[in-house]
Amino acid sequence: MESKIDSLLERMTLAEKIGQMSQVRHFEENAKSDISKKFLGSIIHTEGPTPGSTAIEWQQKFSKLQQEALNTRLGIPLLFAVDAVHGQNTFEGATIFPHNIGLGASRNIDLIGRIASITALESQATGFSWVFSPCLAIPFNEKWGRVYEAFSESTDLTAKMGVASILGHQGVLSQPSTVMATAKHFIGDGATDFGVEGGNTSLSREEVSRFLLPPYREAVKAGVGSVMASFNTLDGISMHAHKLMITDSLKNSMGFDGIVVSDWKGYSRFGEYEIINAGIDMVMAVDGDLDDFQQGLSTAVKEKKVAITRIDDAVRRILRQKFRLGLFEHPFPSESLIDQIGSQSHRDIARQAVRESLVLLKNRNNILPIKKEVAKIAVVGGFADNAGLQSGGWTVNWQGTDKNYEGSTTILQGIKRIYNGEIIFDKEGAVIQKDVDLAIIIVGETPYAEFFGDIGGEMDAYEHTLTSAHQEYIENYRLAGIDIVTILISGRPLVTTNEIDKSEAFVAAWLPGSEGDGIAEVLFGQHNFSGKLPHSWPKSLDDYQSKYGPNFWDDSVKPLFPFGHGLTYNDTELEKPI
Ligand code: BGC
Repeated sequence: MESKIDSLLERMTLAEKIGQMSQVRHFEENAKSDISKKFLGSIIHTEGPTPGSTAIEWQQKFSKLQQEALNTRLGIPLLFAVDAVHGQNTFEGATIFPHNIGLGASRNIDLIGRIASITALESQATGFSWVFSPCLAIPFNEKWGRVYEAFSESTDLTAKMGVASILGHQGVLSQPSTVMATAKHFIGDGATDFGVEGGNTSLSREEVSRFLLPPYREAVKAGVGSVMASFNTLDGISMHAHKLMITDSLKNSMGFDGIVVSDWKGYSRFGEYEIINAGIDMVMAVDGDLDDFQQGLSTAVKEKKVAITRIDDAVRRILRQKFRLGLFEHPFPSESLIDQIGSQSHRDIARQAVRESLVLLKNRNNILPIKKEVAKIAVVGGFADNAGLQSGGWTVNWQGTDKNYEGSTTILQGIKRIYNGEIIFDKEGAVIQKDVDLAIIIVGETPYAEFFGDIGGEMDAYEHTLTSAHQEYIENYRLAGIDIVTILISGRPLVTTNEIDKSEAFVAAWLPGSEGDGIAEVLFGQHNFSGKLPHSWPKSLDDYQSKYGPNFWDDSVKPLFPFGHGLTYNDTELEKPI
């Protein structure tokens, strides 16, 4: 392989080399002709117009672009990349798994591997050979809007789960059903001061090495094909331009021989050609960045500001992954995978993941599992019957959706499937009937992604807790003297001490994804709870000031529930105040 790469490199012009280092969106103006004129190396799909409405249309669109690349002088195939972060979530009808925080709660390493291999297959079935997952962040601060993309606040757990995910995605990389995985975002994404997306991470070198780097070390050992640079700065230095971390640490010291890809518009945002000198190999030259990047880098090489050996190294890394993926032999997606998208067997695994991700925080007098004598139940709140709201960001759209989407089931549907008694759906939480035996109240955060989810920024209204409307659902049922089982849908632990107090049982359900009906299987005792907290759970808003932010290791903070808490039906929990 290396000699094939040598021979390609010898024949490539500078423009062809810089072309390989460029990634654009499939619908960008001139995307097709830029493949032949600007020798693009990769195409990305994320938010924005889809490549078609059916999987075959997606494949055909990408195959046409691929053919364009194969027709160029050197015939180097394109890599097609997608933000498949909890299943192939950009394709409506794909299996959508719980977000990583829920998988962190499951503690089920094998399951994570299976989920990743299904995600790989459904991604390939829609035309992709590369996914931007898993996120190996260690969130220090629940204000960060991307806490749910990470498995856990635990470095060890994240390292184990990251490896399982990478191995599951990549399998035997040359097979048509596997994809290249991406460990992201390198490094410090979840550890910024006060959880600001793209902010500054002010940890010491020692802390970075101890808390943040181990998952990357393991990812490199597991053969991860790419690593994405992070938006944040580390001690004031932009991570995209951080040569010490990218080249010295990741590449030279850990031995990473794959692709370091920039994040969105990394070239214009984070230091232009200096990011290449720092060790970025491929640039998301999207939204108008392509010409600036290609011309800017070309000039920098001619002016000897960037060594040609650096360019050759970047292209070698990109070509290496293309060879490893078998793209030169099999450049086109396989139509035979299409009928497995959203298949029953994939959904069964997703439903298992939903069940195993649920964490039972409280179960006063063993009110759960719901007993046969319970004749009439109120199911409360709009989240109960809305698969979009239960799925979080990165679901169908970047910022998620507030609608049911193809193939999804809701929590209410699951309750209807299992429970034979009478169900009152009280969408507004107004207690429409007082003679119910039990209320299952679903509350939570509406979907968000990236900086839109930062508390203190765009999500100011949430203040780490429930909206007043959702607090009222619980208060209304409490005042009516009805036993309450609360299900919290959220991308992070929220301060819900009062609501936990008012509920007989309280379940952290995270962001379950398309198989919302799986929740009922546990509530009604068909399966036991097994999930354990992947984060410690704050007691009060003050905890956020002292636990998180720069004082992460402040021992004085006692969480309401520690990392690892999670009851099962075998625990007897008598009435006790919290
Ligand atoms: C995000 C990445 C994502 C990329 C491509 C960025 O804004 O930070 O996680 O993979 O966009 O969509």
